[in-house]
Amino acid sequence: MNAQMELDKLIEKNKARGITPSLLLHACCAPCASYPLEYLSEHFDVTLFYYNPNITDESEYQKRLLELRRLAHEFGFYVIDGGYSENLFFDTVKGYEQEPERGSRCKICFELRLRETAKQASGKYDYFATTLTLSPLKNATLINELGEATGKETGAKYLPTDFKKKGGYLRSIELSKKYDLYRQNYCGCVFSKRKD
Ligand code: SF4
Repeated sequence: MNAQMELDKLIEKNKARGITPSLLLHACCAPCASYPLEYLSEHFDVTLFYYNPNITDESEYQKRLLELRRLAHEFGFYVIDGGYSENLFFDTVKGYEQEPERGSRCKICFELRLRETAKQASGKYDYFATTLTLSPLKNATLINELGEATGKETGAKYLPTDFKKKGGYLRSIELSKKYDLYRQNYCGCVFSKRKD
């Protein structure tokens, strides 16, 4: 069963039971959070978690965070800031600097962000998930596998998603225009910026 089907099934089950589970949603930026928020807000009690030590520098980090807060305000949600850390990302991906985008460095980067989200969600939220599966440039199957694994490590329940399904990516572009969101032209780390 694919992630979207699993999610639809879970939503139907919760609807039938009349429950709205809590969800800690890791968000990489406002454009990628736009469609997931619109879609999930009807079925979950969402709190956003901005945890992205991969982002190039503090000014870019703050710029993306401000935009996410502005969007969250529109939907009536709260954003937890995981905090900026200058060295954590570089220490974590040491030896993988020259990897191309979508290679091994990205896997480590996904895992870093998912593990921290899982830790924060453990014992406090019914589920955790990430907006990272929205991008057509990112491997949703890999992200979901890492989500499941980090969930098992920490005792948190991972919600598998593939937000690009059901026209999610196109809808995120429409919502980005509607809310006039800053859309950066690189993924986040200095290595993804270098090629521009
Ligand atoms: S390209 Fe994106 S996903 Fe890959 S390591 Fe850089 S910030 Fe992380």
